[in-house]
Amino acid sequence: MRRQLTHDIHNLIDRGRDRQLRLAVTGLSRAGKTAFLTSLVNQLRHAGIDARLDLLKSAREGRLLGAQRVSQPDLGIARFPYDEAMASLQSSPPQWPEPTRGISELRLQLRHRTRRAHGLLGSTGTLTLDLIDYPGEWLLDLPLLEHDFLSWSESQLAAMGEARQQFAAPWRQAVQAHAPEDAVDEARLAAIAEHYASSLRDAREAGFSHLQPGRFLLPGDLQGAPVLQFFPLPGVGEADRQRLETLPDTSLYQTLAKRFRYYQQHVVKPFYRDHFRRFDRQIVLVDVLGALNAGPERFEDLSLALSTLMKSFDYGKRSLLNRLFAPRIDRLAIAATKADHVTADQHGHLVTLLESLLAEPIKDLRYADVPVRAFSLASIRATDAREIEENGKRQPVLRGHGLKDEPLLIYPGDVPSRLPAPGFWERQGFSFTAFRPLAPADGALPHIRMDAALEWLIGDKLR
Ligand code: GDP
Repeated sequence: MRRQLTHDIHNLIDRGRDRQLRLAVTGLSRAGKTAFLTSLVNQLRHAGIDARLDLLKSAREGRLLGAQRVSQPDLGIARFPYDEAMASLQSSPPQWPEPTRGISELRLQLRHRTRRAHGLLGSTGTLTLDLIDYPGEWLLDLPLLEHDFLSWSESQLAAMGEARQQFAAPWRQAVQAHAPEDAVDEARLAAIAEHYASSLRDAREAGFSHLQPGRFLLPGDLQGAPVLQFFPLPGVGEADRQRLETLPDTSLYQTLAKRFRYYQQHVVKPFYRDHFRRFDRQIVLVDVLGALNAGPERFEDLSLALSTLMKSFDYGKRSLLNRLFAPRIDRLAIAATKADHVTADQHGHLVTLLESLLAEPIKDLRYADVPVRAFSLASIRATDAREIEENGKRQPVLRGHGLKDEPLLIYPGDVPSRLPAPGFWERQGFSFTAFRPLAPADGALPHIRMDAALEWLIGDKLR
């Protein structure tokens, strides 16, 4: 008890002296969180030795002395599997790390020299950097707090587009065999819920992102728990409210409504209260290129998912989040990942495309005075830039290896500089090929603009 207290007091003092920072990394599945955090830890571990971090001022000025891993403060949270990720990247042939599926954490201690006037170096300082990785899918649940079960059911069914309806057909068939007043036993309920969860998983496999509830896709330690065994009820609406609310506790409607409330209180809220509220800085990763590759319907869906996800960072005074949890994130980065999938001349377009994809949320953030900056980056660069000559013209191309280790030399095409017009999809000039990581070399992992993102996210704490 006393030791914990001393520990907490030290944490508080460090924070007071600006020496502690909690940096959270999120994004939807396959956005590149695991690769990003692995690279971030790797770059900082190699800072001052062989990492290329010229855009991080303290590194450029030779003031960043290095970073060490220290034991994490929250013993109840999984450790971010850095060693395992590095082992995959260093295997032969190299492989991408296994993605993380829940929340995980890692603490680094950075040592740096402070800067004095006239370029003189000052004393050494330390910055304790807590890195937290969590699924962006969990943020898709924030709007669910503004609903009760009935209005949530209505909203979910209304949002189900044609393609989603197809995935949901077996669930619909199962649920329509029951009326809201029926008493439905546990096993049957679990079976219908599994149909629902599996329709969400199929939709995600097919490239859709705007899916709720988020924990159905990434249950973490709640796998198989009854709190995840609910689903929207088709065919009920506001007009039925009075009748539905008088149904007995054992009815299908009341059972689902109870689980929905439990999910709100015991799954969604605790995440915001216990974790989210304590983040100082945040980076949101987006696989823009993957969505471009998947076609207009998926791209549109990603855009919807992102505007929902970004609501968690809208701290307008009247926002739901501010009313509930008073978060304190004071700086935000959004990044289009996997920039090494396109040639360098396209990187500028990747940033403007990301900005137009997030135009509305960015406006809200600026209004709420949360500083936000957009980047394009490759956490772990898997291609080399080359040039070839074709019909007397020089053409930039990418060289690397495919996931089956086959050598590739390609020009992947142009990235549109803003939201693609319908014509773009017809003459789709873009084809996204996955590369395996480059063969390991001595030194830090190769990257594109990780240093720029780091300067924005932690640079001011290393002055
Ligand atoms: P997560 O689900 O958000 O943790 O995503 P991961 O970090 O596991 O990334 C998903 C996949 O995207 C990886 O397996 C890689 O195939 C690819 N990827 C991630 N980052 C990069 C990158 O910087 N460059 C390239 N070429 N591919 C990447």
